[in-house]
Amino acid sequence: MTVVAWEGEPIGEISGKVDYYTQAADLKQTKELFPEYKNIYADCQQQNLMRLDKAWKRWLVPDKNGKRGGRPRFKKRGDICSFTFPRVNSAKAGAHLTGNILKLSKIVEIEVILHRPIPDGFGIKQANILKKADGWYVSFSLEDKTVPTVLPVDEIKTATGIDVGLEKFLTTADGQSIEIPQYYRKAQSTLARKQRKLARKTKGSKNYQKQANKIAKIHLHIARQRKEFHYQVAHWLVKSYDLIVFENLNIKGLARTRLAKSILDVAWGAFLQIMQAVAVKRGKHTRGADPRGTSINCSGCGARVEKTLDVRVHNCGCGLVIDRDQNSALNLLKRGSVGLPIPGCGGLDIGQPVKQQVSFVNLRCSR
Ligand SMILES: [Zn+2]
Repeated sequence: MTVVAWEGEPIGEISGKVDYYTQAADLKQTKELFPEYKNIYADCQQQNLMRLDKAWKRWLVPDKNGKRGGRPRFKKRGDICSFTFPRVNSAKAGAHLTGNILKLSKIVEIEVILHRPIPDGFGIKQANILKKADGWYVSFSLEDKTVPTVLPVDEIKTATGIDVGLEKFLTTADGQSIEIPQYYRKAQSTLARKQRKLARKTKGSKNYQKQANKIAKIHLHIARQRKEFHYQVAHWLVKSYDLIVFENLNIKGLARTRLAKSILDVAWGAFLQIMQAVAVKRGKHTRGADPRGTSINCSGCGARVEKTLDVRVHNCGCGLVIDRDQNSALNLLKRGSVGLPIPGCGGLDIGQPVKQQVSFVNLRCSR
């Protein structure tokens, strides 16, 4: 039974347990009560119930860290911007992709622009249809049946630590650094101007909608640029090193400080996910290490060399004078490579640090 609530009126007894299965079983009756549901492909309706079930369980049942999700909120018309066809190109599938023609049952047969071809040997598992600020998109989940071969641990030849900085996006243990792209801050003034314009419009009016959509498009553009940048850096790292040790940062804790904009700009957490995925694909290794004390301790002799954030050079009594971020990266590498037979940690000669900058100038946004 589908329960419809009127304000102030009791909705009656809900008998027994309500979960995905009872709700899915009720879909048949829903179609009788609300005939418009007949126009929605059955698989998609079930997918929505699964989403609801997941959200509900995240709220009710704590995960292994004892954390629970927020209370599921009622979704208004327009809140849900995507839906899923769980099967593609199979006999009972609601979605079929032939060449670049996508046929969605009960909706449309439409030509799609494939940003990249579906690679050979991959099966399409699902199609997720989503609405973004600049149009409709479909993203396919592909199944890669090939299992990447992981480089055996005793064959790791090159390793590095990567230190996330506020001045640089990251610095490696051999002293290479990558600048923080400034697209976010550049876009800030444009955003602020468009926000002020939005504030002058009547909420809900057509012009308001238009302006809000312009703002959403800028956000989308920034997000795509950032992702592209993250992939470039990840591929470079994974190509250059067999093992990459990163610092496990509590981003939430850091973002609350006045450094928030830089931290969010850097988007370290999102980058780490991409880097780890790229590493798995190439059979390379990544490890997280505790970053506490990595900027203070000397990577050469282990002594504590206290320094404030504005001191950019690590200068130790033992004679080691290097960039502070490189010192941190070396410490991370030490922590993360414990027990690994890495010859000279990637051929590092701490006495003669190489300082060079790697830049990714060809930032392109895929549209
Ligand atoms: Zn020292």
